[in-house]
Amino acid sequence: MRLNTTKMILFKKITELQRFLSEKKRQGASIGFVPTMGALHGGHISLIINSRQHNTVTVSSIFVNPAQFNDPKDFEKYPVTMDTDVELLEKNGCDVLFVPSVADIYPNGLGNLPQYTLGYLETVLEGKYRPGHYQGVCQVVHRLLNIVQPDNLYLGQKDYQQCMVIKKLIELAGLKITVAIGPTLREHDGLAMSSRNMRLNEQERHQAVKISETLLFIKNNIKPGYIDDLKERAIQYLSAEGFKVDYIAIATADKLELLEYWDGKQPIVALAAAYLNEIRLIDNMLLN
Ligand code: AMP
Repeated sequence: MRLNTTKMILFKKITELQRFLSEKKRQGASIGFVPTMGALHGGHISLIINSRQHNTVTVSSIFVNPAQFNDPKDFEKYPVTMDTDVELLEKNGCDVLFVPSVADIYPNGLGNLPQYTLGYLETVLEGKYRPGHYQGVCQVVHRLLNIVQPDNLYLGQKDYQQCMVIKKLIELAGLKITVAIGPTLREHDGLAMSSRNMRLNEQERHQAVKISETLLFIKNNIKPGYIDDLKERAIQYLSAEGFKVDYIAIATADKLELLEYWDGKQPIVALAAAYLNEIRLIDNMLLN
């Protein structure tokens, strides 16, 4: 059953969104939810399309969450393209867009927020290099989930560790929400689509593809045994190409345990985070 509207409905107020959604739920609708920070691209839209296929009502949100930016400059420069976002969502059949204000999401301000016990996930890779980032992600996602109360939540593999954190959040909060993870959408040359790509100049855009090329190099060259050499070569290559590498890691796909040795059987993933000048890019690739 599809919703009988052709126009997307935009809500700014929590109570109005909730009134609309509870009426839909009363009618038996299932709700799919795609939270975003806007500056939308094909990756976001792939999640919308997936949600549309499995739910009566697809809700997306655009909210640039101040609590998850460990670098204030990154927050200030985060791209905002609201008009084209609205157009793109509407064109792709999103039913509801929620655009709350910071004051509505954080009525008591950004200080003294509750802490989530994320354990190991907060100590490695993104957790290690972006202190506080995943606490901020949990703050906003938990609030959005409480507001929208979706049946199904759609996330992108592009943010591999974030998917694990949000699954953990859902478990900690005891929510009954199914998580569907969509594959990373890429530009024609292989660069993972990202809102931050809009900030790359022509030269940087040309360079940026080297991150996915490096992950592909790891995928094509990994063999059972000690894998540290391969990882080091990848780091050296990106550094020589002008990146400031935060990490390149090879980890177990299920728990994100960092590996130096691979038995040739365990499902594994390669993950990278690197700066091109001021812009930090991340990507990952399942290796087997
Ligand atoms: P963001 O707006 O960056 O917070 O992302 C919103 C959602 O879109 C998250 O679940 C991301 O993982 C997902 N996403 C971002 N980039 C991509 C991509 N290239 N392919 C698929 N999903 C993506």
